[in-house]
Amino acid sequence: MLYLDANATESPRPEALAAAARAMALGGNPSSMHGQGRLARRALEDARDALARRFGAAPADTVLTAGGTEANALALHGFAAGRRILAGATEHAAIRAFPHTGIPVLPDGTLDLGALAALLRDGPALVAVMAANNETGVLHPLAEVAALCRAHGAHLHVDAVQAAGRIAIAPGWDSLAISGHKLGGPMGAGALLLRPGLHPAALVAGGGQERGRRGGTEPLPAIAGMAAAARAAPPSHLAGLRDAIEAGLPPGVIVAGQSAPRLPNTTQIVMPGMAAERQVMVLDQLGLCVSAGAACSSGKVAASHVLAAMGFSGSAGCGIRVSLPWDAGPDTAERFLAGYREMAARLLRKVVR
Ligand code: PLP
Repeated sequence: MLYLDANATESPRPEALAAAARAMALGGNPSSMHGQGRLARRALEDARDALARRFGAAPADTVLTAGGTEANALALHGFAAGRRILAGATEHAAIRAFPHTGIPVLPDGTLDLGALAALLRDGPALVAVMAANNETGVLHPLAEVAALCRAHGAHLHVDAVQAAGRIAIAPGWDSLAISGHKLGGPMGAGALLLRPGLHPAALVAGGGQERGRRGGTEPLPAIAGMAAAARAAPPSHLAGLRDAIEAGLPPGVIVAGQSAPRLPNTTQIVMPGMAAERQVMVLDQLGLCVSAGAACSSGKVAASHVLAAMGFSGSAGCGIRVSLPWDAGPDTAERFLAGYREMAARLLRKVVR
């Protein structure tokens, strides 16, 4: 099998597996006062320090959560009082679940800065913009977004779940969400990093953990694994593999957002007229694991809101996402392209018949 679905879950990093196992073996609860609890507390604070340092926040301003969805929800719940939420049209469901006004994107998938500026003139806002899109890998112009937010006194929340660990993230955000399993750590860990002086209202009430900002015992093994994964250097060979894939595609297919700056590991390939679900199923039979647009929790595939927002109206349900894991081998492009051509031939034969 060839795993090409890193944006759903990154391949596990061995250092993350080892760190998670070590943390679990400690056995204590970080909130306990005894020696074993203090060991767990130290492991938790070491992980917090590493994450804070890696992503540019103070440890005291780093709230540990049980995932990226929760980190995003904490920001939107915690900072939205008295503000309208403005969210990019291609945001993940974790953001789109909150009532919001959409900020359109340009046909290349990047945020329409003129539209954002106009919306910001209408009053206090919380702006939620992803650093990198999970389906296309398109990067938004975060430095410009941050400057606009600063000029209008808006809170800027950045969903960095796909960008973290893969590319440098522009400073200027007020809050930033990351997720452990997108870094190569375990599922069930995330963090919300904050600009100093910001205190979100807690989303989960409980025993006062995380300085009252997130109740509940911290998932220490997953957090230790996330921190170990975050320390790993980003791979440097993925853009070359991605480009080789795109260069070898048959005529008639379209790479969404190809002209925009993108994550090095992601390509969204649209085959007009061919439902993404069918493409994914045949590729799966051929041993290739890719996604149809976003991996939907229910396993169902809907037309992609990302492609629709970029203007692919008739073929918004025809894109497959190939997302290379950090450990993708040198023969990845060749193997993918062989499978892709075979998939296209099989499906087109059925259409002709
Ligand atoms: N934000 C983006 C951009 C994502 O791609 C995802 C997951 O796919 C999430 C948020 C949610 O993260 P998690 O799976 O950790 O809840």
